[in-house]
Amino acid sequence: MYPVMLEVDGRACLVVGGGGVALRKVQGLVEEGARVTVVAPDVVVPLREMSQRGAIEVKNRAYELGDAEGYALVFAATDQERVNRQVFEDATSRGIWVNVADDPKLCSFQLPGRVRRGPLQIAIGSAGRAPFAVRRLRQLLERRLGTEWGEWFEAAARYRKAVLGSGKERPSRERSYDLFFSNTVDRNKLTARVPSRTEESDWIGSEAVDHRMPSRDLAMARQDDCVTGHDRGFVSLIGAGPGCAGLLTVRGRERMLRANAVVYDRLAAAALPPDLDPRVELHCVGKNAGNHPVPQGEINSLLVRLAREGMRVARLKGGDPYVFGRGGEEAEVLQAEGVPFEVVPGVTSGIAAAAWAGIPVTHRREAVRVTLVTAHEALKSDGPQVRWDLHAQDPHATLVGYMGVTALPSVVKKLVEGGMDPSMPAAMVEQGTTSAQRSVVATLESLPQAVTDAGLRPPALFVIGPTVGHVEKLDWVRHRPLSGLRLLVPAAASQLIAAAEEAGADVLPVPMPVTPAARIVMAALPAHGCLVRDRADVDWLDEERDTVQWYDKVMMWCLTSEAAVRARGNGWEAVELPAEASCEEVVAWIASSLEDEASGGAEQR
Ligand code: SAH
Repeated sequence: MYPVMLEVDGRACLVVGGGGVALRKVQGLVEEGARVTVVAPDVVVPLREMSQRGAIEVKNRAYELGDAEGYALVFAATDQERVNRQVFEDATSRGIWVNVADDPKLCSFQLPGRVRRGPLQIAIGSAGRAPFAVRRLRQLLERRLGTEWGEWFEAAARYRKAVLGSGKERPSRERSYDLFFSNTVDRNKLTARVPSRTEESDWIGSEAVDHRMPSRDLAMARQDDCVTGHDRGFVSLIGAGPGCAGLLTVRGRERMLRANAVVYDRLAAAALPPDLDPRVELHCVGKNAGNHPVPQGEINSLLVRLAREGMRVARLKGGDPYVFGRGGEEAEVLQAEGVPFEVVPGVTSGIAAAAWAGIPVTHRREAVRVTLVTAHEALKSDGPQVRWDLHAQDPHATLVGYMGVTALPSVVKKLVEGGMDPSMPAAMVEQGTTSAQRSVVATLESLPQAVTDAGLRPPALFVIGPTVGHVEKLDWVRHRPLSGLRLLVPAAASQLIAAAEEAGADVLPVPMPVTPAARIVMAALPAHGCLVRDRADVDWLDEERDTVQWYDKVMMWCLTSEAAVRARGNGWEAVELPAEASCEEVVAWIASSLEDEASGGAEQR
């Protein structure tokens, strides 16, 4: 099959058949200016009306041998195979291009799937071998390519004219086109923007360029090198934050979006940007159920190898890379191997998980020192030991213990023996800042039992000190209407995402089509359900059903009845939200459906 785009303006085309399929062919042809004749004993109303308006000619009779003569293109769309075949043979014998709807054997040309944005057209074909694949690809591009591409294309055409009119030589013209493209197209997200006239004339006027680009555009242009790689390789040691994706730093996110490879720990998986380019290599080096973690030595060699291959590597670690994260060791190896690197600090869990549990780690007059300690060492007899006895003597301090679940009883014993008040407020926070956060608050001496009773498990940390006494008043997290709820929402629904997040939900914006990074994020923490807008959203999420870690009861909150019908049909438990609801109403509706659940005792968040 050889692809062409035909100029049919003013050309005579024949459509045999008068039903819905024929109508669509006729409309497509008329839009492009073709002179269309329809032959059919009977035609649907819109065709009749078009013929009355003089937009087409209709011959109300059956197809006769020789009818094809003189037409540039012939289409058959009748429900009678015999007639379709007759049209095909008649046209073919006269050397006329012919297409029979839904019958690739009877086609001398195929109609491609078409995505159209103004004058820009993308045609997709499979030589009739997998129409379903063409259809889905077309839908995918329909969703991915925003309407701005039409305007962008008009701007591109205008820009080309201006460049041609500038009298530049060929190489310099190409340079101007490059500037237009790299400054207006985001290659990863497949979005485009229309530049201002000033920008356009700047680009046309500039020879040596980069210093003229505004910083936003520079960021976009830099993405070019992430595709081709960077000669020397580079490693960013990035702190992913404590678990809530929004607590990743702006720089950390930016580094990952520009990386060629991301090497991540299990605790950091939830912070991977779901919109990460699918071409980025993803290396998981963390422990996950049943698997041992990759030994540190292998992680070090992996980082060095990737960098030596010229890649930009984003090494993503939970919390802050230098706080009990062995980031220092990795940095030393990179330094010794001559690999350039940087550190992008992160929000450490000791401070953030405490805040999420309602504990400020310092407070005027109450706590004037914060200590971040690894409690794990308390269980070992070799190596450096923590001076628990010194902490025990300091009542105006907060002690935050990482890796502290197993060690807690022995830590508490040492603190009490060292003279700490056994009634000092103390807390343990599990999976802080995530939708799965759980915490218990007790006194120092009763904390180990409270932790056992609640069944708290790692990753968790303890906080001991007078400021823990503020939790009652400062427990801001639990009071938000959607707190503890993890929701999958199509990434394009940005306003809904913002509203649900503001209401305390942990929202995972799922790009459609779903990226490999999004799949990892989906599997990182259990979700309660999805918020969908239409049938297509349901279909996308359906395909990911097994990727996601779900809680026992999964809900699909649907913004349209079409989506609800589809969801139920596919076996989801679906709630239909009121039509035309504002974002705030949607949030309130979800919150009330959760209350119904909880009062029914079906699920406790
Ligand atoms: N570099 C990380 C800490 C890595 S050590 C940071 O700065 O946060 C791993 C320990 O961190 C866990 O055993 C747990 O004690 C603590 N931790 C990490 N994430 C946590 C979270 N979301 N909630 C509570 N504790 C967490």
